Amino acid sequence: MNIIFLGPPGAGKGTQSKLLEAHYGIAQISTGDMLRAEVAAGSPLGQKVKSIMASGQLVPDDLIIALIEARIDRPDCAKGFILDGFPRTRAQAEALDSMLKKTGRHIDLVLLLDVDEDALADRIAGRFTCAKCGEGYNDLYKRPKVEGTCDVCGGHEFVRREDDRRETVAARLKAYREQTAPILPYYEEQGRLCRIDGMADIDDVTKQVFAAVDAITKK
Ligand code: ADP
Ligand code: ADP
Ligand code: ZN
Repeated sequence: MNIIFLGPPGAGKGTQSKLLEAHYGIAQISTGDMLRAEVAAGSPLGQKVKSIMASGQLVPDDLIIALIEARIDRPDCAKGFILDGFPRTRAQAEALDSMLKKTGRHIDLVLLLDVDEDALADRIAGRFTCAKCGEGYNDLYKRPKVEGTCDVCGGHEFVRREDDRRETVAARLKAYREQTAPILPYYEEQGRLCRIDGMADIDDVTKQVFAAVDAITKK
């Protein structure tokens, strides 16, 4: 089963795609996480994309398409994968379809997390993750059960993303509106798009997501 999560920055793609990965045992692939790892490692790719990411712009299609093409050929994707943060442009969407075709695969479902733009600023400004295990939290919506301690691994160190500053968020939303939202009709016309009410609580969103996935696996 191959799934795409679409939605603006802060919609809940990472949160929900990790829960899907745990529930269905298919690989979660976050292009944002992959790029941040390249930046942290100081690799040639990381050096190329660092300032682009910091400004809230999209990195060039050819770089990200090559990254994904190599990633979905890895053995852990044999049972399927969940894409979080890719595709983000029409060119990426088309490249994805043609690379999957080469290996006899296709996208089964595209989940769109529908969220009011007003809600995104607080979600993004409040986002932080455990430095040790990567579990995601939020100042307003998902605090650790014990203050300062990760629910999952017991870690005490948390990190915030460089690009989650309010100044950069406007550029990221603009990129979503202008470059990513136009790919929705591409999937809608093919009958692959499923809209999820992303304004609901995290648990309610998860229920909707699992129901949408179960509906296609039982077909
Ligand atoms: P994305 O991957 O789409 O950018 P995240 O999954 O990282 O979004 O979520 C952004 C922030 O909002 C995180 O801090 C997360 O804990 C929080 N969040 C996710 N889903 C919800 C929700 N349904 N309601 C409130 N906060 C949420
Ligand atoms: P968010 O979770 O807030 O939607 P991501 O972690 O997915 O953000 O992406 C962070 C940054 O990484 C983006 O602002 C962009 O610069 C870059 N990026 C991630 N995925 C892509 C992609 N598919 N195409 C172009 N740039 C990307
Ligand atoms: Zn942790």
